[in-house]
Amino acid sequence: MLTCGCGRWMHTEGVEERTYEDGVPQWFVRSECRGCGLKVGVDVPAGQLGGLIDRLIWTDEALHRLERMPPYLAPLVREEVEQDVRIRGERVVTYETLLRPRTGERIEWDAEAERRLSKVPAPVRAMAKVELERTAADRGQRRITVALMEELKAKYFGMAAQKA
Ligand SMILES: [Zn+2]
Repeated sequence: MLTCGCGRWMHTEGVEERTYEDGVPQWFVRSECRGCGLKVGVDVPAGQLGGLIDRLIWTDEALHRLERMPPYLAPLVREEVEQDVRIRGERVVTYETLLRPRTGERIEWDAEAERRLSKVPAPVRAMAKVELERTAADRGQRRITVALMEELKAKYFGMAAQKA
């Protein structure tokens, strides 16, 4: 843990996920001394904390995502994610943490939805799969249905049309 020049422990105030020009993801860890008010920020390679972080903490990016979830869902997601992070012995909830399946939780696919996914061109299939499972998870759904696929397809075609 960080110690301030005044001799007190420094408390972790926040973590930002950053990627610099070399493409290596970094965490910018903000710490503050509650005794003298000194603030410091330290860049560390993502996932390599040493003793820098003194408690379970959400990155700004993960918090931002949580705040955009429906109010009935956010507290459930928070609890579920924090439990999963503790089980894994981690301390930081990142944007990616929110996307991955929780321990023991799996999104199921309807047979028809699975069949349709297999027909999606390979280059976009993996992305489509992640996006579908993420959307379902955001809504508290555990199944991927054809209806959901149709809905997202319309959304993406809409975006493509706007760009063109
Ligand atoms: Zn101090």
